[in-house]
Amino acid sequence: MSILVVGSVAFDSISTPFGTVDDVLGGSACYFSTSASFFTDVNLVAVVGDDFPEQHLDFLRSRGVDLEGLKKSAGRTFRWKGRYDYDLNEAHTLETHLNVFEQFEPVLPASYQDAEYVFLANIDPELQLEVLNQVKNPRLVASDTMNFWIEGKRDALIKTLGRVDTLVINEAEVRQLAGEPNLVKAAEIVRSFGPKTLVVKRGEYGVLMFAEHSIFSAPAYPLEEVFDPTGAGDTFAGGFIGYLAATRNLDEGNLRRAIVFGTVMASFTVEQFSLDRMRTLNYEEIENRYRRIQLLTEFSSLDD
Ligand code: AMP
Repeated sequence: MSILVVGSVAFDSISTPFGTVDDVLGGSACYFSTSASFFTDVNLVAVVGDDFPEQHLDFLRSRGVDLEGLKKSAGRTFRWKGRYDYDLNEAHTLETHLNVFEQFEPVLPASYQDAEYVFLANIDPELQLEVLNQVKNPRLVASDTMNFWIEGKRDALIKTLGRVDTLVINEAEVRQLAGEPNLVKAAEIVRSFGPKTLVVKRGEYGVLMFAEHSIFSAPAYPLEEVFDPTGAGDTFAGGFIGYLAATRNLDEGNLRRAIVFGTVMASFTVEQFSLDRMRTLNYEEIENRYRRIQLLTEFSSLDD
């Protein structure tokens, strides 16, 4: 079952303690759709400028991502510049240039309007809502956001969240959105805004999922080499929603499996800059890492 995603398609300039790159392929929708494409088909809604090279589009097409909803406008593509220090869990945004996104009015191709699985990746919450308004009867609506929008477009964000089933968001942003430092209390507050499932991304400490009937914790995959954490969250979401859409099963056991697939996908993307690791990845590697995370967390019950 295909997924509809709206989000940024970007040029990123990134500096980490291990290197610096300029104007590489990035953006929330790119990371998400590339990751999800390992599980199912993806229809992408976004805008790029006339400076966006065909080779990046060819890469997305090669992953089976449908680009009918990707508009090319006169102007410059979205640009983000960020820096990480030795604590790779925290991105410091140096520059955000919305460029062609400032005037973007998304119009969904007819074939996208029946989408059952929708991911509103990190982008202006007003755009997220405009896209959602054009989807007829979605089965699962998930979204992401970041401090930039929590600070700049809070009211629009809260309105959009009222229509979201599953929010996937960083730990610091849950606290900021809720105005509450305790994570468990903050999760309850954010769930009261709409999303009945809240997935909290905690960088190298893994993921906590607050679902309707249970809380689930998954560790991050222990890696020796973390090169560039950019896109880890979107790649996580791609694996998570990709697996849910592929299996068409939203019970809590399957949500847990999907969380681990998301974790696996994120663990690959941080091994190289930009989307480079995704270019060589295959499904067998994904399954192997899934099994290793299962072993990592296995322990017997007190009654055994
Ligand atoms: P992540 O590391 O998964 O949180 O996402 C990083 C990606 O988000 C980068 O590729 C950026 O291009 C993109 N990004 C950064 N800031 C924004 C923003 N304000 N709106 C949309 N996308 C953004």
